[in-house]
Amino acid sequence: ATPTAIMVGTGKGAQYGILIKGGESLENAHKINTIVLDKTGTITKGKPSLVDVEPVPGFSVSEIIRFAASAEKGSEHPLGEAIVKDAQERGIPLTEATKFDAIPGKGVVAEVEGHIVMVGNSSLMEYEEVPLDEMEGAFERLSAEGKTPMYVSVDGKPAGVVAVADTIKEGSREAIAELKKLGIEAIMVTGDNRRTAEAIARQVGIEKVMAEVLPQDKAEVVRKLQSDGRIVAMVGDGINDAPALAQADTGIAIGTGTDIAIESSDITLMSGDLRGVVTAIKLSRATIRTIR
Ligand code: ADP
Ligand code: MG
Repeated sequence: ATPTAIMVGTGKGAQYGILIKGGESLENAHKINTIVLDKTGTITKGKPSLVDVEPVPGFSVSEIIRFAASAEKGSEHPLGEAIVKDAQERGIPLTEATKFDAIPGKGVVAEVEGHIVMVGNSSLMEYEEVPLDEMEGAFERLSAEGKTPMYVSVDGKPAGVVAVADTIKEGSREAIAELKKLGIEAIMVTGDNRRTAEAIARQVGIEKVMAEVLPQDKAEVVRKLQSDGRIVAMVGDGINDAPALAQADTGIAIGTGTDIAIESSDITLMSGDLRGVVTAIKLSRATIRTIR
């Protein structure tokens, strides 16, 4: 495209709160035929809150919250923060964990009041061979509702299930429908469990879901699609998303997300509204058309 067309295009983008890094980024976006979207913080608001606590017999609701929140106190993960915030709102006093370990994509292990407490997914529970049969029913029911359930164990024994829920952003559903009209396939990628991911995907109209993807494997998902000959955009907000944003033909960051995600991207959506992805692609197509 001509320098003038580029200037017009990036200028229009800025008016809509879409920051485009350089002319090449603007030109490239017209070729995108596949969009990979992170779930938490990208399709959803990324501010989950604790909505369910289901103790196994022998534990009380406040005990589960005390153990889980004390274990998550050192966590920077939104799931951990949601549990800690809930404990504070309920006025449940937390105790300082004497040991703490966060395992990316799985959960946390901590020593609380002399007990080993784990909060996380089934793959975390394997570390201490926690039997899940007493908790599985609750886990599956909550995930089918689109919530993110986590197992809680104390000294290798099942203690309960807690679940957090996140709200879908305004505009996510409409953006996916618009992308479809442009002939672009949307794929959700998330570390969350399959049922939860599929429930959220259904609500926004996404058909293809890649769930239980470990943080370090998101870039590999993008690379595989590219080796199938697709031109891929990745949309994400987190530290976890940065390598995938850099790998993609077009990296699109959520402006309310982490700095590293923004730095790794070609385009930033200031408000985080996914309809900005549609606008960016339309701007790119219009810019290219002006020279043909
Ligand atoms: P996402 O792609 O949604 O950001 P992550 O890769 O960070 O997800 O985490 C994947 C899964 O690992 C979560 O859905 C949860 O089951 C578990 N997990 C990760 N961190 C924590 C934590 N601090 N506490 C409990 N569970 C966690
Ligand atoms: Mg995210």
